[in-house]
Amino acid sequence: MSRQHVVDMCRTMLERGYLKATEGNVSVRIPGHRLYAVTPSNYDYDKMRIDDICVVDFDGNHIPDESSPVMAPSIEAGMHANVYRARPDVNAIVHTHQPYASALAFLRKEIPALTDEQVRFLGKRVAIIDYAPSGTGFLARKVEKKIASGDNAFIIANHGIVALGTDPVRAVFNMALLEKVSIAYLLSLLTESGKVYTIPDWVREIAFTKLRKDEKRIAAQISESVPSVRVSTDEELPSADAAAARIAADGPTVPETRVVEVPGSESALLGYAISEYPDVEDTMRRLDALVAQPVRGLRHDALLDVLNYFETKCAGSKEITDRARARIPGGVQHNLAFNYPFPLAIGGAEGAHLTDRDGNTYIDFLQAGGPTILGSNYAPVNEQVAAVVRRSGPVTGLFHEYELKLAEIIHRYMPHIEMYRSLGSGTEAVMAAVRAARTYTGNKMVMKVGGAYHGWSDTMVYGLRVPGTYRMNAKGIPFGATSRTREVFPHDLGALKRKLVENRARGGTAAVIVEPLGPESGTRPVPHDYNARVRELCDEFGSLLIFDEVVTGFRVGMGGAAGYFGVTPDLTVFGKAVAGGYPMAGGVGGRSDVMAVFGSGLDGKSGAHIQVGGTLSANPLSCAAGFFAIEEMARTNAPVIAGRAGDRLAVGLRRLIDKYGLPYVVYNQGSIVHLECSGVMLLDMHNPVKLLKEKDVRKELMEQMGAAYAAHGIITLAGSRMYTSMADTDSVIDDALARFDEVFALVEGV
Ligand code: PLP
Repeated sequence: MSRQHVVDMCRTMLERGYLKATEGNVSVRIPGHRLYAVTPSNYDYDKMRIDDICVVDFDGNHIPDESSPVMAPSIEAGMHANVYRARPDVNAIVHTHQPYASALAFLRKEIPALTDEQVRFLGKRVAIIDYAPSGTGFLARKVEKKIASGDNAFIIANHGIVALGTDPVRAVFNMALLEKVSIAYLLSLLTESGKVYTIPDWVREIAFTKLRKDEKRIAAQISESVPSVRVSTDEELPSADAAAARIAADGPTVPETRVVEVPGSESALLGYAISEYPDVEDTMRRLDALVAQPVRGLRHDALLDVLNYFETKCAGSKEITDRARARIPGGVQHNLAFNYPFPLAIGGAEGAHLTDRDGNTYIDFLQAGGPTILGSNYAPVNEQVAAVVRRSGPVTGLFHEYELKLAEIIHRYMPHIEMYRSLGSGTEAVMAAVRAARTYTGNKMVMKVGGAYHGWSDTMVYGLRVPGTYRMNAKGIPFGATSRTREVFPHDLGALKRKLVENRARGGTAAVIVEPLGPESGTRPVPHDYNARVRELCDEFGSLLIFDEVVTGFRVGMGGAAGYFGVTPDLTVFGKAVAGGYPMAGGVGGRSDVMAVFGSGLDGKSGAHIQVGGTLSANPLSCAAGFFAIEEMARTNAPVIAGRAGDRLAVGLRRLIDKYGLPYVVYNQGSIVHLECSGVMLLDMHNPVKLLKEKDVRKELMEQMGAAYAAHGIITLAGSRMYTSMADTDSVIDDALARFDEVFALVEGV
């Protein structure tokens, strides 16, 4: 890890033009050991590899790594060792030969306190350390003596500078800050009172270009930042407990939610999870500002503590998931599994909490990726499902009453699901829906929104996660399989219309499929009227509208997103909650004339129907689980209670973000809470250079924040999304907020 940090620091300095021009050496402390990682001697930074970074102990002895090529550590390693020994607060060191700072050594001028920023980060003055030959014990000792002052930047006569930091980012920042104040001080010396010097043009040119560049960068950051949403400390947070108590006392009440039209009156009466639809324009402006700014992650020392948590407290998880690497590709099976720094192995789940193999408990905001709206391992449903399975086993292969009960209860709360076909997963259900749409319309093309996830079928692995990436993730999928799929940028109805027009010449559009809250469960929330506009376009172009309600089905309310938005799709894809957290969660339903293409069984006409099915599809276990879970969700009004918990979490998080002045963005659509720290999901092919440059850093930040939340007892979906459930009482959410408070206090610069 520390070696990786050395590489990252060098890359940053190379990118900014500091390192290559001046050369030097860079090191990072290895936590918990008397060791540090340092760049090798005589090194070509352009060809840097993590394996080249040397590990040295505090006595200056090189500890070679058997698996890596042997390179000698920098000859300044002794100086680094002395600094780490004398200054426990220092975790990273940059030693380079910055020219402007070096000029001050030549003039023998220390830099006095010029700016607040300088004093805060570098110290009251930047001292000069007297000459001593490089790589010798003399230099190491001279540096050791001076750094005891607690300052973080020094100029070494004839030998460049040393910048120290509590973490790698800070050390690089301090080096750059030192160069900036050196330029400013040099310029002021050249115009000392009584003496007028002529600054050589080339010096002026370089100095001013540098300052102008910095000025532009800072100005851009300031103008693009958006003040955080103010949530005063006296403001009472929304309460899931109050909603639950009201529901328990009064039964269904008149919904508080704005519902455009009412396809299922019973669902409308129960209300919806979204108490207030996000202000999409404002949210997008904040997300854009987040992406425009440099990343704000954990301080290095805090990150080391997080990693230390995993190493020391999660040894059982590490042992079993390490073993799994030999037998399970990649070591984990779930695409939502938390992998950084290694996956956690879960031993128990109950309501709002998870327990890992080492006995650590966590607040569970992953909720298995969404299906458990009642909370994990919900006993009343478990017991009823167990009773069915005791009677008929998990599967019979013949008709079972719970198939019908499930189809009927879905129809009860979503009347537009006139017929329903049970399948094995959301992915299967999307495949079936697309095939049905093509069969029914006779058209060929399928439109999806860039960034949206509709499972991993050949047709749908297209424009995945990042809008505008077409087949970037389509490894192993032949061109033919995606040749009839097209994507449009989120929100862009003009482009959708244009492509629908073009599709007329390509065999017509069979379906437009959308996640009704926006791609990736509303990571880019759609404007409130978006779905209605898509419905109109589908009608105009003779295409079916497919709602992928794998996440939103029942989570947004018993009427799903269709009920909430008042937009009726032709086909709806279900997953997750449709089996109440049990396996084989998938199905497709909709208008009976369209659903007729699924006709199956021994009706003697099966040639007319599409081939869709599965040995275990519609088994009693999954259907009974779905039926009882839906019945229980309606009885308890779980979606609305979970939605209020989401509100409480989101408002509380906004208050914390405001408290710490962070650029992070929080919004929620009921029980789906988005906490964007890095904005990686907001990068797209509108700006491919930025995407290429920043995707890895931003993804890494997202993972690090996810790990930090976990180390503080919170499991999220990939560090950026959270699903709340009925089990999230106010005290659970308040406990989570206290933990988030601790994590945000660890962010660099707060
Ligand atoms: N559609 C959406 C919107 C999803 O979020 C998912 C899964 O996360 C799927 C489809 C695929 O469902 P499954 O994982 O059951 O195949």
